[in-house]
Amino acid sequence: TSFEELKLNEHLLKGIYEMGFTKPSKIQAKALPLLLKTPPQNMIGQSQSGTGKTAAFVLTMLSRIDFNVQSPQALCLAPSRELARQIMVEVKKMGKYTPVITAEAIRESNMKSSTGKTRNEEFANAQLIVGTPGTVYDLLRKRVINKNNMKIFVLDEADNMLDQQSLGDQSIKIKNMMPKDCQIVLFSATYSAQVRSFAGRFAPNANQFTL
Ligand code: AMP
Repeated sequence: TSFEELKLNEHLLKGIYEMGFTKPSKIQAKALPLLLKTPPQNMIGQSQSGTGKTAAFVLTMLSRIDFNVQSPQALCLAPSRELARQIMVEVKKMGKYTPVITAEAIRESNMKSSTGKTRNEEFANAQLIVGTPGTVYDLLRKRVINKNNMKIFVLDEADNMLDQQSLGDQSIKIKNMMPKDCQIVLFSATYSAQVRSFAGRFAPNANQFTL
């Protein structure tokens, strides 16, 4: 399979080729056709890090965004700030040739961001948000992040998320706030009974695959 066959648009192709990716990894070849289906379907994927799973969900998020609409459309949760930052680095590389507007929702200063806007203003027109559960939940509750146009919600490293009960609980609360037609995607490296039960609540009626 090639990236072209996966029906990624030319702007995304330009970004990923510039990153040096020549062809999809196994998990990308398997996951992207499922993730990009119309109408969107929920998905639960088991895969280790190092397999290219980040690109699979980042490319899906970037494919689902309508760049003419300046409000949050894609949300990704990670169990740590460090991972959230790493995911955002990938978003910026893969989205380099798209006009995507991004914001990080990780707890830090409420001071002005690099764009000169206050942090809160930044979320109003951001299209893709990556963050940690506590901060995202807070911003959704305060309506700093508008959930109404959210099209895809991704939870990365669900198994690590469940190491801290509060993160799992917050993730479920956030999921319950999403619009009915929002696509829900969950990735986990391991798939214990605990993760399975959580995944079933988090992403109902999901397509499942393992790699
Ligand atoms: P991940 O499993 O998401 O942590 O990705 C592991 C590493 O593989 C990252 O450094 C990616 O940049 C890289 N990678 C992901 N997809 C591909 C691909 N199709 N071709 C080459 N490298 C890739």
